[in-house]
Amino acid sequence: MDSTGTPAAQSFLEVAADSHFSLQNLPWGVVARPGEEPRCAVRLGDWAIDLARLQASDLLAVAGLPNGVFERDALNDFMALPASVRRAVRARLGALLRRDAPQLRDDPALRRRVLLPLADVTVLAPVRIGDYTDFYSSRDHATNVGIMFRGRQNALMPNWLHLPVGYHGRASSIVPSGTAVRRPRGQLQPNAGEPPVFGPSRLLDFELEVGFFYGGPPTELGSTLSVDAADDRIFGLVLVNDWSARDVQAWEYQPLGPFTAKNFATSISPWVVPWEALQPFRREPPPQDPAPLPYLRGERNASFDIALEVALATPRQTAPHPVCRTNFRHLYWTMQQQLAHHTVTGCNVRPGDLMASGTISGPDRDSRGSLLELTWRGSEPIRLPSGEERRFLEDGDTVIMTGWSQGDGYRVGFGEVRGDVLPARPD
Ligand code: CA
Repeated sequence: MDSTGTPAAQSFLEVAADSHFSLQNLPWGVVARPGEEPRCAVRLGDWAIDLARLQASDLLAVAGLPNGVFERDALNDFMALPASVRRAVRARLGALLRRDAPQLRDDPALRRRVLLPLADVTVLAPVRIGDYTDFYSSRDHATNVGIMFRGRQNALMPNWLHLPVGYHGRASSIVPSGTAVRRPRGQLQPNAGEPPVFGPSRLLDFELEVGFFYGGPPTELGSTLSVDAADDRIFGLVLVNDWSARDVQAWEYQPLGPFTAKNFATSISPWVVPWEALQPFRREPPPQDPAPLPYLRGERNASFDIALEVALATPRQTAPHPVCRTNFRHLYWTMQQQLAHHTVTGCNVRPGDLMASGTISGPDRDSRGSLLELTWRGSEPIRLPSGEERRFLEDGDTVIMTGWSQGDGYRVGFGEVRGDVLPARPD
């Protein structure tokens, strides 16, 4: 039921109550059928709905929606439209797919053209990502890492409670779920005070994050976006695994921050959950004390209740074993604040830019979003039901992240972002 007590709307297509891809979600993506060009789609249950063909059928007539905008291998052109247009498309799709809507339901020829069984398509990367920024917005994560590297007294840097710390990342190596990730090689300093060595990272890790895509027209260089403007400028969210080589990171990060420890791969879930679909799950973020500067103040209920999980599988532990359960609402800095801070200098943003939250850790031991924290730098290994132990990732391991918001009788979920660890390239 929704907040008015009305049962949640259902589709004429069968959708399981625990499916992440309910009528209330309708996430955006890109799919391809064998031998055909990729096209934009939305997902409902185990179906991909071909938006290019639906628009060609004239059932998707929306003012301001250019012809052919879904006949693309990425969502970028659609993402560039004003929020009012994408909301109108979303409303139209929701109406067309309802149980009581006959236009598509009762047209077998059209159904064959636009309703693609998910098993018959390849799900591709959804967006041509322009720029990628990674924040560091979980207080628990920043505190845990700070304690490990600087001690409890200096855990949070003096700036941390005043601004959403971040760094500019690498877009070219962002890959969709299912892409295997090769263990990187790099400079390591196994023994403090001694010269570095070159070789495969021994401390490969995941970071559980959620990212947002900027949507709407590009901003002008020199202009800014307020916290309150973000509602019209955030297109949707994906799960992000920010693969990290901790030993490379420890040696290289000072004074300019992460570099090759992070740039070899970042994985994202392929269905972009619309900002609009998450609105019923808004919650207050943790209290911000000291009060942020005025440009970082804004709307209430600016966070979301999104359950997040990480599971590990290995060649011996084939059933994925949960190692982390946490929630998006633990984030101290909100996405709206991240966007406002990113642009406060006049930095322009473009449709398709990705901004990730930083590792999302909660206050509990099992709510830590990286192995670095879960095993406390390897000193407290995780024991798997197979009898194996993990301090960091080993070759052949699989990392699976998932997330969803629970409605009354439906879910708005992200599906998963999954990646296998391949051995490092031989010398
Ligand atoms: Ca990160």
